[in-house]
Amino acid sequence: RASLVWFRDDLRVTDNPALSAAAARGGAVVALYVLDEESEGIRPLGGAARWWLHHSLASLAGGLRDLGIPLVLRRGQATRIVPEVAAQAEADAIFWNRRYGAPERLVDAEIKRRLRSEGNQVASFAASLLHEPWTVTTGSGGHYSVFTPFWRACQNRPAPRAPLPAPPSAAAGSARVPSDDLDDWQLRPHAPDWAGGLAETWEPGEPAARRQLQRFVRSGLADYDRARDEPGLEATSMLSPRLRWGELSPFTVWHEAVAAEGGSRFLTELGWREFAWHTLDRFPDLATRNLRPEFDRFPWPCLDEDALRAWRRGRTGVPLVDAGMRELWETGHMHNRVRMVVASFLVKNLLIDWRIGEQWFWDTLVDADAASNPFNWQWVAGSGADAAPYFRVFNPVRQAEKFDPQRRYIDRWAADSRDEPIVDLRETRRAALRAYDEVKSAR
Ligand code: FAD
Repeated sequence: RASLVWFRDDLRVTDNPALSAAAARGGAVVALYVLDEESEGIRPLGGAARWWLHHSLASLAGGLRDLGIPLVLRRGQATRIVPEVAAQAEADAIFWNRRYGAPERLVDAEIKRRLRSEGNQVASFAASLLHEPWTVTTGSGGHYSVFTPFWRACQNRPAPRAPLPAPPSAAAGSARVPSDDLDDWQLRPHAPDWAGGLAETWEPGEPAARRQLQRFVRSGLADYDRARDEPGLEATSMLSPRLRWGELSPFTVWHEAVAAEGGSRFLTELGWREFAWHTLDRFPDLATRNLRPEFDRFPWPCLDEDALRAWRRGRTGVPLVDAGMRELWETGHMHNRVRMVVASFLVKNLLIDWRIGEQWFWDTLVDADAASNPFNWQWVAGSGADAAPYFRVFNPVRQAEKFDPQRRYIDRWAADSRDEPIVDLRETRRAALRAYDEVKSAR
């Protein structure tokens, strides 16, 4: 009897409850990854995410091979492929770790029903969030809309469980299951190959993720509270793509930080990730719909394509914005403080709909996440849950003075950017506030 483990956003062998459950059964284990670009409602991956996925899958295949487990790659609709591969592998038990987007959950429920009706054992596990979205509820049983009480409620729940070790090697299976060739998926860009900066910045995969975590808890965590807001200090963990792709589990990160007696501030940031998923659970169309419906009346002017292009390319003449947008293009990452500044600039100085910025981030971030990305965009735009007050317009010049006082960050990414903004910051701020007043009076 064989077991099938269906990998999704959990590209690791350590602290992977689905993999451990399969290994614990004894018998052969087959692993599967499905590139599903057909199921309705599942958001297609952006370019930088596809690049990451390619390399992370290659690394996962190596980690599984060491355990005697083949990784089968298949492309197509998961509802068709998972039962097909289970049959080819002669598996009578199928395991996976849960995912939390609404369309993904529909797919998983349908597959579970089908497999069970054919007499298979199917089990799913909590692995990607410390607190599954529906386990944290208000007194009246609903979702939280404000972070602080949400996080307090999380802390009143049982402490996050300890991470599981990697499983022992599995027995070799007898069935040979056909697999795609990873290169044929063409997840990496070819002509032009714009991913050189990504390759220089990152080594995707679980072993590198573990080394990165060790480095951070050893030498970054102690200074995190003080230095985290200054992009020039490179003082944050850079773990977001590791968590996005599940190369590290949040349980591992949590316990390593606690053991190192790390600042609670870092743990609170992990809490924001939990809160974004909690919010997506309540509002499945977080990426397309304003959480505050009065924002549907926001008087967006006609889209200024030139301004949008300047923003994307880091040529706005606002040094901190340009530095951030170029860091993003070059590395697939951007410091959190700068993400807030560039997002505020797009929405409140260029008066461009937050959804357009969100889509650009979706395409260019290696950590682009179906919950955190739209959640944070709505937070900055003021249309979201627990949002920044609508009248808060980050002044990018002041932000640079305060958080990049020695211009380390700006000089690194946009040394040539002069203070010659493509729009008048004061005037556009006033226009934004007028537009926000219209929204407010429409309430
Ligand atoms: P650290 O400061 O070391 O934080 C540790 C971890 O906490 C991060 O890796 C991340 O998993 C989590 N975290 C920290 N801040 C937040 C936050 N505000 N919301 C959710 N989780 C958080 N984060 C993503 O993971 N994916 C996204 O697509 C994403 N899009 C964003 C878009 C905008 C407009 C803004 C303002 C923020 C966005 N963030 C997103 C949140 C945050 O900017 C990144 O998580 C953070 O910069 C990652 O760097 P780090 O790992 O060094 O963070």
